[in-house]
Amino acid sequence: MRYAVISDIHSNLEALSAVLDGIAHLRIQRVFCLGDVVGYNANPNECVERVRDEGIHCIMGNHDSRSVGLEETDDFNPHAAEAVRWTQRRLSEENRELLKNLPRRIREDDFVLFHGSLDDPDRYILTRRDVMDNFRMLNGLPGSPRIGFFGHTHLRMAIALVGEAAIIENEDNVTIRADRSYLVNPGSVGQPRDGDPRASFCVYDGEERTIAFYRVEYDIRTCQKKVLEAGLPSWLAERLAAGR
Ligand code: ZN
Repeated sequence: MRYAVISDIHSNLEALSAVLDGIAHLRIQRVFCLGDVVGYNANPNECVERVRDEGIHCIMGNHDSRSVGLEETDDFNPHAAEAVRWTQRRLSEENRELLKNLPRRIREDDFVLFHGSLDDPDRYILTRRDVMDNFRMLNGLPGSPRIGFFGHTHLRMAIALVGEAAIIENEDNVTIRADRSYLVNPGSVGQPRDGDPRASFCVYDGEERTIAFYRVEYDIRTCQKKVLEAGLPSWLAERLAAGR
């Protein structure tokens, strides 16, 4: 089976459309999304509906849960919190219900999908300690899944556990070895933060045992224009061009 894994769409319809166009040419059987369909940008309803119509299997992100009122925004920075409140006002009843009912985790084949960390959707995987904690939790799950796909940091990343050591894989194509486990972040569709403004995603080929990372250009200007016209913080538009 060939799977596409996308994450952190953040109401960026232009980026989502470009990514789905790219995926359409890659012989993909199933598409997964690691959460944060909404937040930051200006097309929450359109993105939720596109995810639904494409049959994408999606989990709940920290912006999704806040945008449907399941959690408070006290721990969000002011721009993110403002975008959450804006999204809360615009989400249709139907789309709110859909987001509310997303699972926090999906287990499939030899992998598991979660938003932030295996124990907490709000926790980032950034430090060595976060990495080792998540490898420990991954290996402790029933059936010890080989790969944990995560989002939340908006940083494309593949880390292999080799014995006791965590090694960062820098290539665009990663070969999955039977004696290793992996933590993989496909990067963000709608708000990349690694300095490359192009939308990011990855493809996992379960037969060939490979993960390939992709970047696609999208119409950043149209998305920025919508953010500004919606009255959302201008910083949210600016950061898209910088990929920060
Ligand atoms: Zn996010």
